[in-house]
Amino acid sequence: LVSRKVKSEDTVLDIDGVRIGGDAPPIIVAGPCSIESEDQMEQTAAFLAAKGVKILRGGAYKPRTSPYGFQGMGVDGLILGSRVAKEHGMLFVTEVMDTRDVEIVAEHADILQVGARNMHNFALLREVGRSRRPVLLKRGLSATIEEWLYAAEYILSEGNSEVILCERGIRTYEKWTRNTLDLSAVAIAKQETHLPVIVDVTHAAGRRDLLIPLAKAALAVGADGIHVEVHPSPATALSDNEQQLDFAGYDKFSDSLSGLLRQP
Ligand code: PEP
Ligand code: MN
Repeated sequence: LVSRKVKSEDTVLDIDGVRIGGDAPPIIVAGPCSIESEDQMEQTAAFLAAKGVKILRGGAYKPRTSPYGFQGMGVDGLILGSRVAKEHGMLFVTEVMDTRDVEIVAEHADILQVGARNMHNFALLREVGRSRRPVLLKRGLSATIEEWLYAAEYILSEGNSEVILCERGIRTYEKWTRNTLDLSAVAIAKQETHLPVIVDVTHAAGRRDLLIPLAKAALAVGADGIHVEVHPSPATALSDNEQQLDFAGYDKFSDSLSGLLRQP
């Protein structure tokens, strides 16, 4: 179902007037790694909305390496994220980690995110496939392109055709980046499937200084959007402090991409 052999024309999602894929201009998905407080979300959404960003991200359920790391605000985070996004005329995307939470997350979020660590969670894929919300599907940490596309197939096969593929870097032997951004996967996914494909530069790089060149490269190979983490004060963030952009950093980031973002 994801293949261009089945459907040759690009799938263009229209989520409350925000178009993603095909001839739509590339979109930006931005916001903090974790939803931490009302003040943090309010400041971030106000800033990003003023810059024209239409999709606000923020994790309420966080897949942390350590069980002792900040695990997210849960339902309170969902309520906060969706309210703040709505107040600023933005869509809200957040990760769902557990089949038991799909219903509540779908109640609050405009887009359900399946994280890299859950790309192989077939029960979760089926469950989001049964929901009425579009799904942002991250590529697994060491998933092949084929496995990633089959994960999308799980969602489509349950009747949900609104899937956005997201390349976020894969695990390699390289240590100077957190993950290795696989631009071939973006080009192949665009060629082989009709689905929108976006690139998460934040989790790919794991370091701030590479976000601009990686985003430029992603757009050059045909990505339909860029996912980037933005926090009012990255140094004090409860997760991913090495790679989130502060507001000045985001300004520089979006200025550097402005020519490419306007291009259809
Ligand atoms: C995230 O986007 O919040 C996240 C945890 O990313 P990933 O699943 O790609 O690691
Ligand atoms: Mn993060």
